[in-house]
Amino acid sequence: MNPMAEHPVPEFDAVVVGGGPAGSTVAHLLAKAGAKVLVLEKETFPRFRIGESLLPFSTPIFEKLGVLDEIKARFQHKLGAFFTEEGKEANRKVVFAHGFKKGYGLAFHAKRAELDEILIRAAERAGAEVRFGWKVASLVKNGAGVEGVRAIGPDGVSHEIRARVVVDASGRVALGARAEERVIPDEALRRGALFTHVANAPIGEGETEGDIRMVVFDHGWWWFIPFSDGTWSVGVVTDAMPPGTTLDERFDLLVESTATVRERLKDATRLMPVQAESDYSYGVRQIVDDGYVAIGDAAGFLDPIFSSGVFLAMATGEKAAEVLAPVLARGGRVRALDLAPTRNSRARGTGNSASSSWASTIRGSATPSTRTLPSAPSIRR
Ligand SMILES: Cc1cc2nc3c(=O)[nH]c(=O)nc-3n(C[C@H](O)[C@H](O)[C@H](O)COP(=O)(O)OP(=O)(O)OC[C@H]3O[C@@H](n4cnc5c(N)ncnc54)[C@H](O)[C@@H]3O)c2cc1C
Repeated sequence: MNPMAEHPVPEFDAVVVGGGPAGSTVAHLLAKAGAKVLVLEKETFPRFRIGESLLPFSTPIFEKLGVLDEIKARFQHKLGAFFTEEGKEANRKVVFAHGFKKGYGLAFHAKRAELDEILIRAAERAGAEVRFGWKVASLVKNGAGVEGVRAIGPDGVSHEIRARVVVDASGRVALGARAEERVIPDEALRRGALFTHVANAPIGEGETEGDIRMVVFDHGWWWFIPFSDGTWSVGVVTDAMPPGTTLDERFDLLVESTATVRERLKDATRLMPVQAESDYSYGVRQIVDDGYVAIGDAAGFLDPIFSSGVFLAMATGEKAAEVLAPVLARGGRVRALDLAPTRNSRARGTGNSASSSWASTIRGSATPSTRTLPSAPSIRR
């Protein structure tokens, strides 16, 4: 048998599935290190995405990607968070500059349509090839290992694209994990979220302009995220979704049932129909294989209460690039063993020990009977 027919020569060092923050970070850093990288993104940018309030730990990664100045100039600066508990006088203010490690005082609130476009264009400038409107239908496998992807181009034609490694950054689609039945739903975090953008929401007493505002109530919590153009992202995460024929109707019922929120939104105008996500918390049993690694949400996702998703997406993208770049430079196939340092990086929150504290704090905030104003666990970079 001709070995070349069995293992055709890869066209790319790395194919990245998805051009969100995880995909653009890994593609950028691998291309910068000299690898031949292709990003396949099923949508065309700019496109709406939820996940608009960032953590200060993302800021050094923006700097590494050369986009920090643009982000500083365009987006609302976020200096902390303001938590209120419905029905009580209590509130808690978190100021990043006081609480986190020195040098992590500044974060941002960003419309993801804009942020994700900045990140993917920077990856292109670094040398990655980016194809929009390309949907990866499946991974190409040979024996135990992954050798590429099958993808449908904008013309509807299916193509097989070979690569030495496939980086799965497909977000909560979790392409590889779902195909292999490796997704473990988090039963303790079964919740739904409704969200929209609004104009004309006031800044409350004692709040700093750039704070994210969170209102905690018996069955969940609300977020109010201010953008630099004066509009807001408003959303609710709850384990008790009211009935309603439309998402807007359900959202209205939840607004009405929470006095603090009703008051805040009394003069607000909705700028887009309410959107929804549900049962989005899950783990992934195995995130590396021969020729394959999953990063960002494709490697697992927990409730968004601490706004950690984009940071973890970028941090796992950064970690994967760090591990993959020397392996790709060496030549030959990429084995699961080569990827061992990334194996638990998502679960551990950037490859450190923060995982269990994130997970248990998030789960603690899910139980109404133990409802408290949450404080974020610490994270070490
Ligand atoms: C209700 C809610 C609120 C949230 N709020 C926040 C927040 O305030 N702050 C925060 O940091 N995070 C938040 N998150 C989390 C955040 O949305 C994600 O963690 C983050 O977007 C993960 O980035 P990613 O790059 O892994 O995936 P994504 O941003 O989802 O990007 C994945 C990309 O892959 C593409 N793709 C998918 N399948 C394919 C395919 N088959 N072929 C080609 N392309 C494909 C998609 O089109 C997409 O562009 C929230 C999540 C939820 C559910």
